[in-house]
Amino acid sequence: MVHVGIGYDVHQLVVGRKLVLGGVEIPHTKGLDGHSDADALMHAICDAVLGAIGEEDIGHFFPNTDPRWKGVPSKIFLQEAARIVALRNGKIVNIDATVIAQAPKIYPHIKAMKLCIAEALNINMQHVGVKATTNELMGFIGREEGIAAMAVASVDLPE
Ligand code: MG
Repeated sequence: MVHVGIGYDVHQLVVGRKLVLGGVEIPHTKGLDGHSDADALMHAICDAVLGAIGEEDIGHFFPNTDPRWKGVPSKIFLQEAARIVALRNGKIVNIDATVIAQAPKIYPHIKAMKLCIAEALNINMQHVGVKATTNELMGFIGREEGIAAMAVASVDLPE
């Protein structure tokens, strides 16, 4: 039976931080602030995968008060989510995600992001969708105060 999950994440853009999305470091004047590398795209995907199998969210497994997760690459979270799916004898069927960012341009980095995400989840790159859109200059994303990401995951679980 195929189960679907949804994930959403947002982080603040600040000076003096690297911008990492989908495991890819993107040259920019600001980066996302957070306890880990603040990779909003990987965090949204992680929540989608955990949600599909009815598990608690990323904050439960990797609390931002735990020094173990300080500054770590978020691929660790995806690897762990994939491990939990495997423990349940599940199989991640596909991922689809959208990054919402006013700047910088995301498109040139999408192929590399898909590769990183597919590697972390140990699935075929063709089963990973990543798109990007701006927020048409509106709201906090339009003002470049933050970047958001949303994702869905489908997971085949035994009955
Ligand atoms: Mg996050």
